[in-house]
Amino acid sequence: MSTVTTPTELRLAKRMARLGTETAFETLAKARALEAQGKNIIHLEIGEPDFDTPANVIEAGIDAIHKGYTHYTPSAGLPALRQAVAEEVTKSRGVKVTSDEVVIVPGGKPTIYFTFTALVEEGDEVIFPSPGYPIYESLANFTGAKSVPLQLREENDFRLDPNELADLITDRTKLIVLNSPHNPTGGVLTEQDIKDIAAAIGDRDIMVLSDEIYSRLIFEGSHHSLMSQPGWKDRVIMLDGWSKSYAMTGWRLGYGVMRKELAEHFGRLMTNVNSCSAGFTQMAGMEAIKGDQSAVDHMREQFHARRDKFIAGLNKIPGFSCRLPRGAFYAFPNIKETGLESRKLAEALLNEAGVACLSGTAFGKYGEGYLRFSIANSMENLATALSRIESWAKKNL
Ligand code: PLP
Repeated sequence: MSTVTTPTELRLAKRMARLGTETAFETLAKARALEAQGKNIIHLEIGEPDFDTPANVIEAGIDAIHKGYTHYTPSAGLPALRQAVAEEVTKSRGVKVTSDEVVIVPGGKPTIYFTFTALVEEGDEVIFPSPGYPIYESLANFTGAKSVPLQLREENDFRLDPNELADLITDRTKLIVLNSPHNPTGGVLTEQDIKDIAAAIGDRDIMVLSDEIYSRLIFEGSHHSLMSQPGWKDRVIMLDGWSKSYAMTGWRLGYGVMRKELAEHFGRLMTNVNSCSAGFTQMAGMEAIKGDQSAVDHMREQFHARRDKFIAGLNKIPGFSCRLPRGAFYAFPNIKETGLESRKLAEALLNEAGVACLSGTAFGKYGEGYLRFSIANSMENLATALSRIESWAKKNL
C-alpha cells in the first residue's frame, strides 16, 4: 500500500479565476477580528435586517418540523407554496401568474445563478447596473460573457437612464439585469422608467432578469415591475423572496417567476444543485406571505424613520453628501469632497472610527467616490456611528 507524502497541485478549472465575490462578508470578517482585539465596532456593512423573523413565521417553521417537513420536496418547491406565490405575484404585479411559472429556491441568489447558467453563453453580452449588486458582474464573467456595466448616475437619483441603456444594446446582448429598489443606492424605478426601458429594448430577443428582492421596502411611491408591462411577462425572470422583507436571510428561501418552459429548466437545475429548498423553510415562507403582515409594515416604518435620521446626519458631516434613498435599507453617500478614495476612507472608518461600511467600489467601478452604509441597525447604533464618523472627519479632513 502506498501513502501520498507530497500534496498534489490543485488544478482549478479556469472559470474559477473569473468568479467574483461579495466584499461585505470580507469586511465583516475584518470587523470581527477587530472586535476580538477588544475594539467596539458598529456594523453597517452587511445587508440584512436586524429584526427577528416574525414570531408567526418561526412558529410555522417549528410546527412544520414537528409535522415531518424534514424530507425532500419536489425540486421546484411544494405545490401549495408555488400556488401561494403565484397568487401573491398575480396580485402585487397585476399580471396573471400560474404555479408552474414559479420556482422556489434557497434564497435570492440561486435565481441569479440559474438565469446566467440557463441563458448566457460565452461571448454573449450582459448589461447590468453599476454601481450594482456584485453577483451580476461576477456571474457574467464566470459564464464567459462580456460584462457591460450601465452607469447609474447620482444626478438621476441612481435610476438608470433608458437612453443610455439603448446605446449599450447590441446584436449580442442576451440578458439585461434590472434591480429596483436598488442595492447599493436605494434608487427606485418609476412606472415611466419601466415603460421607457421596455421601449428601449423593443422587440429584440433579449431576456431581462428583474431583481425585485426589496419590492416591499419602498418609502416613497410604489413598486413597478417590467413583468407587469403588456407582452413582457415571458421575457422577464422576476426574482423576489423572503430574505429582506421578512427578515429571513438565514432561512434561505426565495423564488423566481418565469415562463413555464424556462421554469422546467430551473427545476432541473434545482435537482442538480440543491435537490430542493428545505420543506419546513417553505412552510414558514407560506405563513410569511399568507399570514399577518403587520411585522413587515413595522419593519418598513422603522427603516423609513432610520433612513430619515441617518441621511440627515450624514449630510451634516464635512465631505459627505447623500441623496435620499427611496427604497431598500442602504445609504450611498458621495464622499468625493473628502479627497479620499472610497476604499481608503472605508478602511479608515473601520480602523480609526469603529464604523464598518463598504467602499462603493465593492459594487463595481462606478462606485468610486461613494460608500455604502446599511441602515439595518438600531437608531441608537446609527446615532453613535454618525457621531463617530463626524468626529473622525473633523479631526482628519
Ligand atoms: N439581490 C440583491 C439586490 C441583494 O441585495 C441580495 C442580497 O443582498 C440578493 C439578491 C441575494 O439575496 P439572498 O441573500 O437571499 O441570496
